[in-house]
Amino acid sequence: MNFREIIGQDPVTAFFRGALKEHRLAHAYLFTGPEGVGKGTFARALARRLLCRNPGDDSCGQCDACRRFDAGNELRFVHVTPPTDKKGVQKTVIDVESVRELAGRLSSRIAEGETRVVLLDDPVGDDAANALLKLLEEPPPGNVFILVTQSPGALPSTIHSRCHKVRFRPIPDARIAARLVERSGVAAEDARFLARLAQGSMGKAVAYAEEGWKDLRDRLRGVAAGRAKDPENFDMGEALDALIKEGAESDEPDGAAGDPGAADWRKGLRKSRERARGCLAILSLFYRDLVMIRENGAEPADPATAAELGAILEKVSTERLLDRLETLLEADVYLKRNANVRLTIEWALTA
Ligand SMILES: [Zn+2]
Repeated sequence: MNFREIIGQDPVTAFFRGALKEHRLAHAYLFTGPEGVGKGTFARALARRLLCRNPGDDSCGQCDACRRFDAGNELRFVHVTPPTDKKGVQKTVIDVESVRELAGRLSSRIAEGETRVVLLDDPVGDDAANALLKLLEEPPPGNVFILVTQSPGALPSTIHSRCHKVRFRPIPDARIAARLVERSGVAAEDARFLARLAQGSMGKAVAYAEEGWKDLRDRLRGVAAGRAKDPENFDMGEALDALIKEGAESDEPDGAAGDPGAADWRKGLRKSRERARGCLAILSLFYRDLVMIRENGAEPADPATAAELGAILEKVSTERLLDRLETLLEADVYLKRNANVRLTIEWALTA
């Protein structure tokens, strides 16, 4: 992984290229931004570049250090992860024990002029944050800390003040769509839809494409059309439930909530909870398009849906549409917090 492969984070890439060239690196960075926009990927690319034995603009990818890094056995790269419990299940938060262990590791000095990179890309517990603060206040020489978070507010301000903050922004839809067309062979119209659904996350968009979520949209179109035709008798809850169950492999809770890559997203998308969230997100896009068409006379972003949208448009007031949108967003929050999938869907459709 190197800087060249990172898409849509040009200001961040430019910032670090400049800092590396002029040898003015901070000893700690805090990467913030929404999920799936490349924070974790960038952190690894930066670590590889910092540890490379023959670096240019980027890490070389050829030297011993780059090879060890890629194989996961470069000793100067320390990835701090949440501990596992007695049953061997990984916890979701880095605890104080993990940070003490880190402190122990860092007490072994590295050679003069060498660099060691410490990455923390999972949520940090309160006690752990205090222990971490001590390390950041008196950093052992040669170490560069990279903290990655979606919720900077959850970290104490004392940690913020010890880190150089780097903000990652959602990737523009057009960049995501172009990448899907070029590298994943997705048709342009489908790529636009998947990019909108991914809301600025390249990792999610690629996973949606690989998991064939344009078909999910087409099926949902059918469901929406069925409801528009016969709102009294059409059981939308049952139709959605069938769609969710069909592609779901398991209901297992998620493990560590770090900054997942495309492979993790893919696995996640096969869980019924994520499929349910996806269905709600696609319905939200339908409703948003309906509001835009009616209020701004906009062209539908997704022309293939225009006919169904038109049919619904005749029957539903804008207030009702906005109401529906709000309910869908609320339902997504419940699903994120582990509410029962079936009950939440039922509620979202009838509230
Ligand atoms: Zn190298």
